[in-house]
Amino acid sequence: MSARLSSRMAGRSARLALSMARGRAQPYSMVFVLTNRCNFRCEYCDVPAAAAGEMSTDQFRAAISELAGAGMGRAAFGGGEALLRRDAIDLIEHAKSEGCFTSLNSNGWKTEPYLDRLANCLDMLVISLDGPDNVHDVVRKKRGSYERVIRVIQEAKKRGIAVATISVIGPWNETRVDEILELASTHGFWAYFQPAYVDCFAHDSGLRNGIDPAMLVRLADQLTAAIGHAPVGSSQRFFDRLRAAPNFSDCSRCTAGKYFATVMPDGLVVPCHLTTGQGPYLNGLEVGFTRAFLEMPHPKGPGCAISPYNESDLIFSLDPKAVIAAVRRAFSSPEQISAG
Ligand code: SF4
Repeated sequence: MSARLSSRMAGRSARLALSMARGRAQPYSMVFVLTNRCNFRCEYCDVPAAAAGEMSTDQFRAAISELAGAGMGRAAFGGGEALLRRDAIDLIEHAKSEGCFTSLNSNGWKTEPYLDRLANCLDMLVISLDGPDNVHDVVRKKRGSYERVIRVIQEAKKRGIAVATISVIGPWNETRVDEILELASTHGFWAYFQPAYVDCFAHDSGLRNGIDPAMLVRLADQLTAAIGHAPVGSSQRFFDRLRAAPNFSDCSRCTAGKYFATVMPDGLVVPCHLTTGQGPYLNGLEVGFTRAFLEMPHPKGPGCAISPYNESDLIFSLDPKAVIAAVRRAFSSPEQISAG
């Protein structure tokens, strides 16, 4: 994958280092939520209920180009289910042509037919995996979805696409974490875990019923112990934050809105999806995406338990444990970690 890192991305990373040294914001790592629509109705997820207006292909392309010009080195695509948009792969290809590291979050149901194209433009495929078959299919309310997820992971790996999974943990699968780690070792992917929120767009509504601090401490202890022999994606610092539930960290000190942020389907630029309701945030279609990013009000709240956001925040904060974990992911494969 490192061969794909473009000189433009290296330049943006150097620019980021300068921005950080000067305390200036830069939209380095951006999530593009292409749609809130989804073909699944997972037990814990309220995102599809928020499906509404979406930017056109040209508008998303323009947003990507503008943000790349403003220093974007990483472009992540997700939803809802991003692949419900027919232009999803075009947009990923466009981000790659702009010199970005690219990733795609998907539930895996519609992914396989696109893998040949993705092999040429995607750096990381992130698949939702909520447990072994009898758990995954029930939580995701889609029979056969586990089988399809495993097949997509295998086919992506055959094509040289790096794979990670995110498992949303709750009482329904807390006891199955070891089995997910075994799958990670068997199939060669980085496994991330996070708890479910009541409201996907408002962290102040709290975690789902049945997810209490004691459960998060158990999860953190289990995953910390597994780091040495299983391809656990998150850093130990993320698990330290999980142990501090419900005050995981401090949104006002988070680097969301400073070095990473999210573009919603309608063009609204927010620090992260969990703070969408805080605002007032600007819409990039109205004022430009760079301005919408740079003038974003700072978020408030007790931090969150979303694993990719926490890793981003910790890395941009130069937390040593998170930086070490990032280096480990960059220079070791999941297979090497599993082999010890
Ligand atoms: S800690 Fe950062 S990423 Fe998490 S909810 Fe707060 S602002 Fe968003």
